[in-house]
Amino acid sequence: MELHNPTSELFVPDGGAADEAVARTTHMCVGAHPDDVEIAACHGVLECFGKPDRWFMGVVVANGSGSPRDDLYADYTDEQMVAVRRVEQKKAAYVGEYCAQAFLDYTSAAVKDPSNADVVADLKKIIAAARPQIIYTHNLADKHDTHVAVALRLIKALRELPKDARPKRLLGVETWRDLDWLNDEDKTVLDVSAHENLSAALLGIFDSQICGGKRYDLATMGRRRAHATYQASHGVDVSTGLTFAMDLTPLIEDDSLDPSAYVKSFIDRFAGEVRARIGKLT
Ligand SMILES: [Zn+2]
Repeated sequence: MELHNPTSELFVPDGGAADEAVARTTHMCVGAHPDDVEIAACHGVLECFGKPDRWFMGVVVANGSGSPRDDLYADYTDEQMVAVRRVEQKKAAYVGEYCAQAFLDYTSAAVKDPSNADVVADLKKIIAAARPQIIYTHNLADKHDTHVAVALRLIKALRELPKDARPKRLLGVETWRDLDWLNDEDKTVLDVSAHENLSAALLGIFDSQICGGKRYDLATMGRRRAHATYQASHGVDVSTGLTFAMDLTPLIEDDSLDPSAYVKSFIDRFAGEVRARIGKLT
């Protein structure tokens, strides 16, 4: 597969042919940076892990050159950070038994440029070859610009594909900003209780990010545990890990639906719920 950047790469953990590996994909995550796939789309990894008929593919759009650095990595140049983060992502693809891992290797500035058609073209090529049933990506209420830009480029790419080449489901999952605020009827609840050891291993691989002074591994596992307990105020915990998603599928079923207006509808329903409760109790 010919991707735009000469430094892009399609990594196949089992060493097989890239085209065959990509074609096996059933579940895909399109994330902004190395480690976002493991934070956001643990559900997809677990759905496929050890299953002969399900395969997870990771797609990382940006190269992560601007990440903070400390400890072992304090004196690393941007180029060295890109290299180490790519190795970490490959380790995760191996541990998580992904069928393939794509690195599109764009700068954050390129991803955030709405006029950049290359990102969209690369995503179209990958999705047309992989034909995933479900794609996980960043939710549109995330507070990281590059994350939201990736989700918007992905929606554009999917809208440029014929309807029968689009996945059945598009889920916006949690990275920077969780989705606990969504009204319960607006939440897509994803159980990630299984193989907690594997989830922890995947998050722990990204040493350059954790040594950068951010315990993403502990924070992400803690968020999943907190969601499992705080999801319902009555009854006992039935899961030990949950992640929440915003269902973005309507945006690829109706190409005229405005992403901004779509997200606002969730926010409006949240505002309505808060106001109604206070109104009822005042
Ligand atoms: Zn990220």
